[in-house]
Amino acid sequence: MSHPGPHLYAHVPFCSGKCTYCVLYSVMYDPARAARYVDALATEMDAFLRHGSPLQPETIFIGGGTPSGLDEPLFARLLTHIRSRIDASRLVEWTIEAQPGTLTPGKLAAMRDAGVNRISFGVQALRNATLKRVGRRHSVADVAASLDQARAAGIENLSIDLIACLPGVSSDEWRETLARAASFGLHHASAYALTIEPGSIMEKQIARGEFVPADEDTQIAELEVAEACFAQAGLLRYEFSNYAQAGWECHHNLAYWRGKDYVGFGPAAASRLGRERWTNLPDVNAYVAATESGADVARDRDTLDRDADITERLMFGFRLAEGVDLAAFGDPDPALLAQWVESMERLRQQGIVETTRGRWRLTQIGRLYADTVAAELLPDHAPAG
Ligand code: SF4
Repeated sequence: MSHPGPHLYAHVPFCSGKCTYCVLYSVMYDPARAARYVDALATEMDAFLRHGSPLQPETIFIGGGTPSGLDEPLFARLLTHIRSRIDASRLVEWTIEAQPGTLTPGKLAAMRDAGVNRISFGVQALRNATLKRVGRRHSVADVAASLDQARAAGIENLSIDLIACLPGVSSDEWRETLARAASFGLHHASAYALTIEPGSIMEKQIARGEFVPADEDTQIAELEVAEACFAQAGLLRYEFSNYAQAGWECHHNLAYWRGKDYVGFGPAAASRLGRERWTNLPDVNAYVAATESGADVARDRDTLDRDADITERLMFGFRLAEGVDLAAFGDPDPALLAQWVESMERLRQQGIVETTRGRWRLTQIGRLYADTVAAELLPDHAPAG
């Protein structure tokens, strides 16, 4: 039986500015540099095809950065490069991340031609003053217009990302944002807790006393409001931060959380293939130079042992509402399985996990202790106390 190829990710490292909360790898968009990057990505894919298994992905996700910010010819070239290097016979989902206001008829036509069938919009807030405060470069009007544009082009599988507890956002504003988001009639939405990342602009704003971040209780309460609001709109929480109508879950992200293999192309992209892990050079100039000279762009290559590999894949499964079936997960060594079951029993008594029909999952309280659960699953973990 042929084995499905890894899920495919491509990182587009360009943005038109920097959002205050963001530390993802991106640089300012520059068409000349972007053109070299697009061709370097094709070269990296060619090198992978020469040395690895064929690319027959079930899902593709082009993230960033701002993939939709490439100008039309470059955007089309990127999609053509990827499409011409894969076997699309198993492809069920191809997502592109987009900034509202950056889609054009030409980009939408290129998406249709390549087989893109899902767009994930980085919306984050639905008041112009808030968007401006956190450095977003789009307006509320752009959001509605972009959703209409995508639907008119025949792309129905649309999602928006929101962030709870952004600076200056009251509980009333958050409720209004969720209600507005629900009114868009989407099949999928994400609501994330704001994380203050080291090195972000926001971290400096906090240090200067310009903003006091919400405490954990407030964050949890705001995410519960999101869960209730989306549920009313028919979007059920299937992962910590993700909501969908049944059948409209993001297959690409589900694959990560279900412990599947993926390969990432582009600067800073990460890969998990069998027991191998690697991350590409996190610098677009170095990435392009290495690719053009035929050098390997992978860094931090690591080969995990069998137990560490299975455990790492398993830990992500606890993010899912469906939970995990320990015995069916990657054929673990009996001693490791016994350790997992023992840990789960202990966590069940503490109210952190629950089990139904052989699947273990986090309780509502347990979502706050996901890191503890992950640590308990590590091979040879010695419980404290
Ligand atoms: S658009 Fe996305 S990747 Fe770019 S700075 Fe903002 S959050 Fe980060």
